[in-house]
Amino acid sequence: MEVDSLFRLAAAEAARFRNDVPERPHRPLRGYADSVSIFSEPLPDEGADAEGVLMQLVAMAEPGLHLMAGPRFFGWVIGGSHPAGVAADMLTSAWGQNAGNHVAAPAAAAAEVVAGRWLLDLLDLPRESSIGFVTGATVANFTCLAAARGAVLRAHGWDPDSKGLFGAPPIAVLIGDDAHTTVFSALQFLGLGHDRVVRVETDGEGRIRPEAFGQAIAAVDGPAIAIVQAGQINTGAFDDFQRLVPLAKAKDAWVHVDGAFGLWARACPERRPLATGVELADSWAMDGHKWLQTPYDSGYAIVREELAHRRAMTIAASYLPLAREGERDPSHYVPELSRRARGFATWAMIRHLGRSGIAAMIERNCRAATTLAERLAERNGIAVLNTVELNQVILRFGAKLSPDAGDRLTQEVIALVQKDGRIFAGGAVWRGRQVMRLSVCNWQTDEREAQLAADAILSAYERAVDGAD
Ligand SMILES: *Cc1c(COP(=O)(O)O)cnc(C)c1O
Repeated sequence: MEVDSLFRLAAAEAARFRNDVPERPHRPLRGYADSVSIFSEPLPDEGADAEGVLMQLVAMAEPGLHLMAGPRFFGWVIGGSHPAGVAADMLTSAWGQNAGNHVAAPAAAAAEVVAGRWLLDLLDLPRESSIGFVTGATVANFTCLAAARGAVLRAHGWDPDSKGLFGAPPIAVLIGDDAHTTVFSALQFLGLGHDRVVRVETDGEGRIRPEAFGQAIAAVDGPAIAIVQAGQINTGAFDDFQRLVPLAKAKDAWVHVDGAFGLWARACPERRPLATGVELADSWAMDGHKWLQTPYDSGYAIVREELAHRRAMTIAASYLPLAREGERDPSHYVPELSRRARGFATWAMIRHLGRSGIAAMIERNCRAATTLAERLAERNGIAVLNTVELNQVILRFGAKLSPDAGDRLTQEVIALVQKDGRIFAGGAVWRGRQVMRLSVCNWQTDEREAQLAADAILSAYERAVDGAD
């Protein structure tokens, strides 16, 4: 097989796709059902030439791709898979490292050590913290909460990592009512239950109410974990760490922060005050594939107390070399043994943008979000429901209509925006009502793109209102 021409072909196709991005509608041209039928060939008996397979993949997949890397993609909270990270990730695949331990994959382990140090520096989190390079914030939440579970139970004379949870003292888990659904999943995976929690009341922006938290934590007697949030998925709001963390600490609770995208505010001087006090926590989950723009998948499980982190994740086997003092095995901080060398893409993104480039990108995105919100709020009948301090905007159309009619109009505007294809925006349910949610989380999205997005949304709104008359 010609490695040279095959890899060149893959790189050429990748570049063509990226260069076409601004010209293509921001929506898949072929939906799920059609994609399944296009891919549905019988299992091949005979193999095929690798270049032919690649071109077949391009033909079958490309129409069904969403322009998540595009400058006007505002759906969910999705980073832009920056070319610098993608290129490093292509090499990561080509190098084929199983990055479980430092003896087998020295360079992969070293890149994680340094990228990890850089992350702690950028986010200004305790420098003694350990970091697991995981697939995303869901697994980062899982990993951090596993460390939390072990630490709080050991403090009460029980080691769940060896003995399991049966017979263990019960752990009180306090969590904000507007936490991300994946945190509840992480609790479920850990045997802590997604419903067996104390859900603490939140305010209009989805922030934990400190008085309600104070009452809930006062009732705690025994091992406890408090889960707070930097960046609510709809509003972008931050919990009041300065008030909440000391309350939790007074009860020896472990404080975990879900900061999937919001924790990046720490890397931006203008936005950093939003997360004041977050450094007082014990663990932090965040994503690389959101605001750092690394390609999928990339997340970080950061734990202040390295030993708690390692005890929760260590895999010991006779054939695995043991790490000595000062040596770090990537697999000791994540659930997996065999794993992708994720440190390379993170290293490349931080090296490429630098501290100032990351700060500028976050500020640019936040300003674009403000521009969008301001333009749309000017129009009668459109309401911006959140205080736009970060990168998230939630909108409601038909502000003067009945709630049900407003739901219908909002859904209609979302459908028209998606059909138009100049931008992509999705919906969400907030406080029981349909909203349009815009997330500005792409390195290319600036004021100009925000203006284009506002134009697209306003024209869809006009059409929806005309249609309703
Ligand atoms: C995206 C997100 C998650 C889940 O992260 P994944 O990368 O999808 O695993 C968790 N919490 C918040 C606040 C998020 O925005």
